[in-house]
Amino acid sequence: MIKGFAGRVLEVDLEARTAVFRPLDEAIARLYLGGKGYGTRLLYDLTPPGIDPLGPENPLIFATGPLNGSLAPQSNRFAVVCKSPLTGGIGSSACGGSFAFGMKKAGIDVLVVRGRSAGAVRLEIDGDADEVRFLDASDLWGLGTGAAQKALGKGMHHAVIGPGGENLVLYAGIVSDARIAGRCGVGAVMGSKRLKALSIQGTRKLDMEDEAGFKKYTQWVRQVFKGHPVLGEKLRRFGTMGIVNTTNGRNMIPTRNFQEGHHPDAMGLSGEYLEDHGLAGVRSSCLHCPVACGREVEVPGAGRVKGPEYETVGMMGTNLGVTDLEKVSHWNWMADELGLDTISLGVTLGFAMELQERGMLETGLRFGRAEGVAEMIEAIAHRRGLGDDLAQGTRRMSEKYGGKAFAMHVKGLELSAYDPRGSYAQGVEYATTNRGGCHVQGASMYFESTGPLTINPQNLKLKAELPVVQQNLACAVNSMVLCIFTTYGLIPRQVHALKPGGWTHRLARVIFENSGPAYRLIMGSKLLQVTWLDTWLSRITGLRFTPGHLQEIGARIFNLERMYNLREGLTGADDTLPERILREPLFKGMDSGHPLDQLLPRYYRIRGWDSHGVPLPETLRKLKVRT
Ligand code: SF4
Repeated sequence: MIKGFAGRVLEVDLEARTAVFRPLDEAIARLYLGGKGYGTRLLYDLTPPGIDPLGPENPLIFATGPLNGSLAPQSNRFAVVCKSPLTGGIGSSACGGSFAFGMKKAGIDVLVVRGRSAGAVRLEIDGDADEVRFLDASDLWGLGTGAAQKALGKGMHHAVIGPGGENLVLYAGIVSDARIAGRCGVGAVMGSKRLKALSIQGTRKLDMEDEAGFKKYTQWVRQVFKGHPVLGEKLRRFGTMGIVNTTNGRNMIPTRNFQEGHHPDAMGLSGEYLEDHGLAGVRSSCLHCPVACGREVEVPGAGRVKGPEYETVGMMGTNLGVTDLEKVSHWNWMADELGLDTISLGVTLGFAMELQERGMLETGLRFGRAEGVAEMIEAIAHRRGLGDDLAQGTRRMSEKYGGKAFAMHVKGLELSAYDPRGSYAQGVEYATTNRGGCHVQGASMYFESTGPLTINPQNLKLKAELPVVQQNLACAVNSMVLCIFTTYGLIPRQVHALKPGGWTHRLARVIFENSGPAYRLIMGSKLLQVTWLDTWLSRITGLRFTPGHLQEIGARIFNLERMYNLREGLTGADDTLPERILREPLFKGMDSGHPLDQLLPRYYRIRGWDSHGVPLPETLRKLKVRT
């Protein structure tokens, strides 16, 4: 078995109450790494087309990668893969917390949960004894995610759902510690299996190819991260909310359901505000992460809890026209407890507010007003009254009540908190990403608009190349399974040090945005190991990796996801953006919306797809994609 892998897959059937340990397929691990890559391949192989995402036949796959369980910073994460009940296509989500560490300690790379239990159930997995216990969970059913983990106790690593998942809210997530695999409705799939919680433990040691070399290199990377202007300074000091002032200043923070990209009071939701007002004393982080991008806040009635992330203050703050940090922190805590994805929740609430504003539906929710929001979040999680409709997400709401032009989703997955009219490459990424409108499947906006280089968003240069490279990289990173913020660290501190507006900054920007084919060539090179991502992998596995190998593996995963989506009925027609983004200017003086129609054909060509967005046979052959 390749080093870094435990070499085992655990398959659990909740109906038959069986648990079988099988060897990890080494060939698949070589081709797809682990995490979402391995999970996607399993999902593709294990299921026929057209299954009901909330039926027992949809497997829920928890997958780690070769770096999980090590001390590599930002590596204690797991991926969850299944058919998404929200989009009907590939569903994948990633989570920090400690469950991934527990899986590797238990000697399990991949855990496949199949079937449906007759009653509420929880699993206890002891990796040392190779034992899986099926336990009655009726006493936990209905508990929030924090309360459930508290009841399960310390000593094991947990992954749980809240009432949102139990009641099949289509954007319910799975929580480990204070982190959530929020996207694509993976929590609803777990709820459909009547599986409340997984607890895991073990003491197995991770077998590495070059343990001393890996440790030494990891120490060096920790120092690099520590001195990095984003990872070691900005993110560490202000948390992810440190980005609010940047996106607000660049007209990119969703405001009133993406009607605008700027809110005059957004400063009140920023990391700087949090620091100035002493609202956050304690950082919070995923296990072993030196960046610690989370912040704890005081919530009346709940005490000190994990505070909102950038995505939450964007989608449940400015997007609702609300800039009261205490209110947003309270809603964030509620969503975490109920096990709901705050991105999809915020977009759906914003949509309900616009329906109200336009007189299309009496929702009782209004932009800029906090009244009724907390009650609606509860109603959504328990599917009461109108909450039952909102629990279906924005796309289904728009199909029932109208307003498709301002329903802010792609493929059914709600957009995250970067308006792509201020970041054209991000728009291409939203439109083409297989799981739908999401920013962590590439994060082009950072390399294009919100990071240190800020390419001109009003031209088309690099706007098709960047998403391809970034999506491939993200597929590989999500299969290792590392936090996407590791890729932010790929821009060296020297670039951050360039004075904005200065001639060196302008020159660097012009070179970058005109680099198109050269950029792809450099990122695709298999000659040199240049990033910690490929060096880490090589030191732990003993296999040779370079950025070019990661691009190839990422492209393979991306194309397999694409083939899965095509199989399930999603087509090139789904590679689009909401009408509002395509047609409406974001700010006064902007010509129109997003030029997706000019960029998509180029994107398809670079991908090796035909004009309908179908991968060409030679592309699949070259990448060794299994179909
Ligand atoms: S940077 Fe933040 S999200 Fe990423 S691993 Fe660290 S604490 Fe978790």
